[in-house]
Amino acid sequence: MVKSGDKMMYDVIIIGAGAAGLYCGAHLKNLKVLILEKNQKPGLKILASGGGQCNLTHGGYINAFYAKYGAHKSFVKNALKSHDNKEVVRFFQSNGCKVLEREDGKVFPASLKASDVVKALIKSCSDLQMNYGEAVKEVEHDGQYFSVITDHASYKAPFLVISTGGKSYPTLGTTGDGYILAKDLGHAIVSPKPGLTGVVTKDKALSSLQGVSVDDVELTLFKDGKANTFCGPLLFTHFGLSGPVVLNNSRYMNKGDQLSINFVNRSSNSIENELLEMVHGFGDKPVAYWLNQLGLVDTLKRTLFEQDEILKQKKLASITKEERKLLMGRVTSYKLEIESLIGYQNAMVTVGGIDLTEVDPKRLASKVVEGLYFCGEVLDVDGDTGGYNLQWAFSSGYAVANGIIELNKIQR
Ligand SMILES: Cc1cc2nc3c(=O)[nH]c(=O)nc-3n(C[C@H](O)[C@H](O)[C@H](O)COP(=O)(O)OP(=O)(O)OC[C@H]3O[C@@H](n4cnc5c(N)ncnc54)[C@H](O)[C@@H]3O)c2cc1C
Repeated sequence: MVKSGDKMMYDVIIIGAGAAGLYCGAHLKNLKVLILEKNQKPGLKILASGGGQCNLTHGGYINAFYAKYGAHKSFVKNALKSHDNKEVVRFFQSNGCKVLEREDGKVFPASLKASDVVKALIKSCSDLQMNYGEAVKEVEHDGQYFSVITDHASYKAPFLVISTGGKSYPTLGTTGDGYILAKDLGHAIVSPKPGLTGVVTKDKALSSLQGVSVDDVELTLFKDGKANTFCGPLLFTHFGLSGPVVLNNSRYMNKGDQLSINFVNRSSNSIENELLEMVHGFGDKPVAYWLNQLGLVDTLKRTLFEQDEILKQKKLASITKEERKLLMGRVTSYKLEIESLIGYQNAMVTVGGIDLTEVDPKRLASKVVEGLYFCGEVLDVDGDTGGYNLQWAFSSGYAVANGIIELNKIQR
C-alpha cells in the first residue's frame, strides 16, 4: 500500500471508467485507486448498450458461455469461471440494481434502464478517486513505477490497469488509445477490425427486403478455400445483411468473402428430394405449390422469384433439370459477396486488440511488463450478442482486481 504523502502517487491507476475499469475498481477495496476517464461521465458505452436497456449478462451455466467467444474460448474460461454470471448478478443486486432474466436468457436491469447499472458501479466505486474529462496521453515504466501522463497532470503507481475498450463507437470515447499505450510498453496488438456488425453485400437484388427477418437460416461463409456454416436468425437491411447469424460471425468475415444462404434450415438434399417427390406425386400442380410448402416469409418468396413468374406457373412435372437447379439454388444456396463490413461507427465491438499470448489468462497480467494488467474489450476478446461482452468486461475486471490484491497479499 502507498505510504508516501505524494498526492500524485497511487497503489493502482485504472485507465478508462467503462464496464471493465469500474468493475475492477469496485473490487480493489483498501487500496488507493485512481480511475482516469477521458469522457466527462463514466460508463457512456454501458448507457448505450442493449438499446439503452443494457443486456448485462446471460442466464444459464457458465460452461455454455465459453463457445460464445470464437477462437478465444480457452483464454476466457479462467476469468469467466472464477467470477461467473451468477456472481455478476449478485454484485448488481447487492448494489441496488435488481435484475430480470428474459425468456431468451438475456439478463437486464429490472428497470430496463442502463443508467441503473452505471449507478450501481459508481456507488461501489465511491471510495476511489475518479477523474473525469482527463485523457491519458502517455505511460512510462521505470522498472518499478508507472508514470501516467494525462492532458492535466502526471500520476504514479506500481500497478497499472488498461481498460480503455476497443475502437468501435468512437463517439463514446473508445478510439483505440489503449492499443497505443500498450504498444509503447512493449505489447503486440492483433490488428483490430469492427465486430458484431452487419455486412454490406455487393448484390443489391435483396435490398427491397429491408426490415424482413428470417427466423433460422443456414449461412455458409467461404474464405481461404474453406467453408464454415452458421445457423440463426437473419435480418435484411438497407445495406445488406444483419441479425444474430451475421453479427455473431462477422468476426470471421472480410471484404471479398463469399456467402451462401440456405433460407430453409434443412439440408438441400432433403429439400430436393421433397421437390422430386412433388414432381412425381403432384405433377399437375404449379411450381408455386412447392414454393408455398417451404414456409418462406411471403415477401422473401416474392423477391427471390420476382423474375420467374412463368416458371412459378409451370406444372411441376414439366420443369427441366436446369429449372430445378435454379429453384434449389435460390432457396438453399443464394450467393452473395461481401463488399465491406459496417465500420467502427456502428459496430458493437472490436475484434482484435492486445495479443493474448502476452497475457496471463488467470490474472490478466502482462507477461511483458510487471504490474501491468488489462481488462475488457481492449484485449483480443469479443463475444456474441446476448450479454457476453459485458460479462467478459465484468469477469476480466474482477480477475485483474483479484490478481492485484493477491499479489499485494492484502486481506479484503
Ligand atoms: C451500441 C452498443 C450496444 C451494446 N450492447 C451490449 C449489450 O447489450 N450487452 C453486452 O454484453 N455488450 C454490449 N455492447 C458491448 C459492450 O458495451 C462492450 O463490450 C463493453 O462496454 C466493453 O467494456 P470496456 O470497459 O472494456 O470498454 P468501454 O465500456 O468501452 O470503456 C472504456 C472507457 O475507456 C475510456 N478511455 C478510452 N481511452 C482513454 C484514455 N486515453 N484516457 C482515459 N480514458 C479513456 C473510454 O472513454 C471509455 O469510457 C454494446 C456495445 C455498443 C457499442
